Amino acid sequence: MKDSYGRDIDYMRVSVTDRCNLRCRYCMSDNCKKDSDVLSYDEIINICTKAAALGISKIKITGGEPLVREGVTDLIKKLKAVKGIESVTLTTNGILLEKYAEEIYRAGTDSVNISLDTLDREKYRSITGCDSLDTVLKGIDSIYDMGIPVRINTVLLKGINDDGDILRLAKDRFIDVRFIEMMPIGRGKSFDTVLNGSIIKGKRLDDKGNGPAIYYAVEGYKGRVGLISPISLKFCEGCNRIRLTSKGFLKGCLCYDEGEDIINAEDIKAVIERVIKSKPKEHCFENINNITEKKDMNEIGG
Ligand code: SAM
Ligand code: SF4
Repeated sequence: MKDSYGRDIDYMRVSVTDRCNLRCRYCMSDNCKKDSDVLSYDEIINICTKAAALGISKIKITGGEPLVREGVTDLIKKLKAVKGIESVTLTTNGILLEKYAEEIYRAGTDSVNISLDTLDREKYRSITGCDSLDTVLKGIDSIYDMGIPVRINTVLLKGINDDGDILRLAKDRFIDVRFIEMMPIGRGKSFDTVLNGSIIKGKRLDDKGNGPAIYYAVEGYKGRVGLISPISLKFCEGCNRIRLTSKGFLKGCLCYDEGEDIINAEDIKAVIERVIKSKPKEHCFENINNITEKKDMNEIGG
């Protein structure tokens, strides 16, 4: 369905938990909440079924870390069977990927995004609080070897990954590496945003994919480089998404605390329609005082 600015809204990010097994410095605080008040999988399937009837055809499973919630691959499998849903994808920090690779494959997951900011063990530990880079790399291998499309999402951080070293992952394999500008949401507010600007010298490709990334081909690399630039290249005009938090709040834009509780709604379809119709025109990251979203990114789903 179209929002009031004529944008076709066909993509919903669905968070299944706020919990996480990492503590990325720009994302999540230390006080980890219990999962007692999250949507049940049946409730999620019901909401997605109603959303699909309104034109949502793509679902991204997110969190917190989605793979810490038991049964998430079963959820993916059930969502794949919902009429109108064409793709179900997953974003993960990769820690549990090797363990669940087979299940993720069997569930029919269409692609997996892995968030990884560096290939340097010490830097990885300093960002995430865990010494588990090798585990993530093994997880990437398992998913790639199963033939599931893999994309790496890297939040640009000064002195950490602005040297492009992480592109090594795209050298010999068809793995896209996407650089994302830090957004001033939650803990991200206290970081300087490194702009995507000139970090890459390659040939811009026409293929934009489904999201906001602009892709480049780099000579000698099998994978592509993607730039997601919410700050330096506002892409709100083409925004196609809504977000469902794990607690059952449906929101139209990352930047604002606007939306509706869907969990106890009598008419779920009407809530989805209202949230789509009232989706804000654009974010206001350039004017931090106008940002009304107070949650951390792990409570929204990224
Ligand atoms: N745990 C999963 C993961 O890391 O992919 C899913 C949830 S995580 C909140 C989703 C994405 O949001 C990750 O790629 C993460 O790097 C990104 N993210 C978190 N905080 C951010 C911020 N302030 N600005 C930009 N991206 C952010
Ligand atoms: Fe966890 Fe993902 Fe946030 Fe890192 S970015 S703390 S992995 S939810």
